[in-house]
Amino acid sequence: MKVFNTYSRQVEDFQPIEAGQVRMYTCGPTVYNYAHIGNFRAYMFEDILRRQLRAEGYAVKQVMNLTDVDDKTIRGSRAAGVSLQAFTARFKQAFFEDLKRLNIEPAELYPAATDHIPEMIVLIEKLLAAGHAYRSEDGSIYYRVKTFEGYGRLAHLDMGGLKAEARVSQDEYDKENVGDFALWKAWDDADGEVVWDSPWGRGRPGWHIECSAMSIKHLGESFDIHTGGIDNIFPHHENEIAQSEGATGCHPFVRYWMHCGYLVVDGSKMSKSLGNFHTLRDLFERGYTGRDVRYVLLSAHYRQALNFTFAALDGARSALARVDEFRGRLAETAGAAPVTGAGAAPAWVRAPLAAFRAAMNEDLNTPEALAALFALVADGNRALSQGGVSAGEAAAALQALRDMDRVLGVLEAPEPVPDAEALRLLDARTQARAARNWAEADRIRNALAASGWDVRDGPEGAKLKPRRA
Ligand code: AMP
Ligand code: ZN
Repeated sequence: MKVFNTYSRQVEDFQPIEAGQVRMYTCGPTVYNYAHIGNFRAYMFEDILRRQLRAEGYAVKQVMNLTDVDDKTIRGSRAAGVSLQAFTARFKQAFFEDLKRLNIEPAELYPAATDHIPEMIVLIEKLLAAGHAYRSEDGSIYYRVKTFEGYGRLAHLDMGGLKAEARVSQDEYDKENVGDFALWKAWDDADGEVVWDSPWGRGRPGWHIECSAMSIKHLGESFDIHTGGIDNIFPHHENEIAQSEGATGCHPFVRYWMHCGYLVVDGSKMSKSLGNFHTLRDLFERGYTGRDVRYVLLSAHYRQALNFTFAALDGARSALARVDEFRGRLAETAGAAPVTGAGAAPAWVRAPLAAFRAAMNEDLNTPEALAALFALVADGNRALSQGGVSAGEAAAALQALRDMDRVLGVLEAPEPVPDAEALRLLDARTQARAARNWAEADRIRNALAASGWDVRDGPEGAKLKPRRA
């Protein structure tokens, strides 16, 4: 497999440190709001990456952090008049629901920043001891960027300007140098009750140190892949390298840095601050599904900017309908035929499957992979119309669709997730049964059936299953 490494700016052969095993860290969401689909472009690219690695036979350990303490989460919780924990819990839950709706495979671990303060403190102590950090008058700790030899290499920065001992604007007077960044922020009024004790006084961690502490703890001092959107390259990932290597002395902290391009709207990055964003919830309200959104997000190469439009969502829908129709035709022809070895597949199945795999192994070239998929659809439809497809060949073609979908995750409609109303009805039915009100329980079961849900009673209680047509 080949991947583009931001560090070298080259496409490189992928070789993990440990044979067969990939350790990968993904910068996760700041849980102060619903993530927008620009954020999900990054999580989608990471999902495609892990799926392709797994399809190539690697075991993957992916760690995605949840940033549940920073300026935005603190501001939000104070405005809402609830604790930081209660405030972020809501958005953590919404985030996991959204991942499911997009059919994004769960990471192996989702560590939260607030559960790793001691690890961050240890790291900062190491940086202080090594001379990479200093304490300012107010008790904040800063990283002394000029002490780290390789600073700027990831972002390919010319550090001449930053290395100058320039005194900067009023609010940065605590820093020795403009490029220095906070590892620990001394408590101030705006932090309210959000505060931890440290050897340097009360305060809270800076954002960058979170990712160094959590990645080292869960993946080790040196690991294979670190991902994010291109806006993470500088300063976040540059700072992570300086912190991690500065504290451990272990180089390289990360072997392959991978970053996705922006989801843009009319040429501007989709972002909360510009207000040009859509959440998944907005799109569901307009009648689109997670599957439509997922298709749009993987239709462009991950390093290219992707322009979001509703026309693209409509296009996704018709493209997927074509695949569904093709699968239906294949299923009719295949009947109960078993899937025999790949050798039994006709050329119109083997060639696109090979092209698909080659495209994905070439730095996750999803547009070419989708072209291979639609070559299969077009050639298969032609063969079906000519009546020249045996049951075994149709079964082989269905298997090819499943193989492609292990990576794309978009061809098979994912199982629907019960909405709040269905869950409320299920709960009401359980209560009716507990009260031995069988008529009411039956009425609710029928109401659920009418809205597409079957109730299955089992040892762990009642569950909802989508009704099969
Ligand atoms: P944030 O919550 O801003 O830290 O962003 C979370 C992730 O989403 C990061 O990996 C960002 O790089 C990524 N991201 C934010 N906006 C966009 C966008 N418009 N397109 C692609 N990725 C984005
Ligand atoms: Zn991070």
